[in-house]
Amino acid sequence: MSLPPLRDVITRHGLAARRSLGQNFLLDLNLTARIARSAGVAPGTLVYEVGPGPGGLTRALLEAGAEVVAVEKDDRCVEALAEGQAAWPGRLTVVPGDAMEMDEAALLSGRRARVVANLPYNVSTVLLAKWLSAAWPPWFDSLTLMFQREVADRIAARPGGKDYGRLSVLAQWRTVPKRLFDIPPSAFVPPPKVTSSVVHFEVLAGPVAPARLADLKRVVDAAFNQRRKMLRSSLKPVGVDAGALLEDAGIDPTSRAETLSVDQFCALARSLEALRGG
Ligand code: SAM
Repeated sequence: MSLPPLRDVITRHGLAARRSLGQNFLLDLNLTARIARSAGVAPGTLVYEVGPGPGGLTRALLEAGAEVVAVEKDDRCVEALAEGQAAWPGRLTVVPGDAMEMDEAALLSGRRARVVANLPYNVSTVLLAKWLSAAWPPWFDSLTLMFQREVADRIAARPGGKDYGRLSVLAQWRTVPKRLFDIPPSAFVPPPKVTSSVVHFEVLAGPVAPARLADLKRVVDAAFNQRRKMLRSSLKPVGVDAGALLEDAGIDPTSRAETLSVDQFCALARSLEALRGG
């Protein structure tokens, strides 16, 4: 069964893009196929897709042989995707709903998936933080996601520059994020204002250094909330004496957040746990 061109799907289903849902549709089939390849999708791969929209990327994933479970908030798109369900019987499940609220492990019945998504920009970092905060090992083997380029820069940043921050530490603690390629605004309908980048995150079996997630978030949040201050001052809100914390972790109290490695943030998180008394 051959499917109608995506532009026809958009016209027939009246899918005028809604800014509130971060809708910028990708209709270039070379690019959608490239994303599916980058995600390592092979026949039989289970893929969790967020925001399939009219289904361009979804088609590429199905053509690469995936079984796709897709969550979409816009009912108009859910209807449009019904055509795809008929073309690939049993291989596309469209779940109407909000990805922010989804219990993915339950939805996927405990099967591990590859996450592939051209994310709505207004929720992309919140969704990423949600997935990176999952119980580990998580319900996914990898994430292949599109972001605004400046967000991709922050995710992959190494210590020592202005892009290095919360997202870099959280992402690099338990995954290896790699920026793969950029996509210009002109590839989307309607074109967004900024360039997009595809980032692939390979899940590590264990973290690069041990830490409790809640403690790691606490020190990272405090440190980067006042990133220009020395740590002895920026870490005051964490609830223990900042000087003792830094000494216990073996970190220079006059250093600043953006110079600390992920390992050093983990040391701070472990010291926080120890000084608080577990
Ligand atoms: N994947 C399609 C593509 O590449 O052309 C559409 C991408 S568009 C940038 C983002 C999609 O996510 C839209 O279809 C939008 O309706 C959907 N969306 C927005 N917020 C969502 C949410 N919280 N949960 C699920 N889908 C959402």
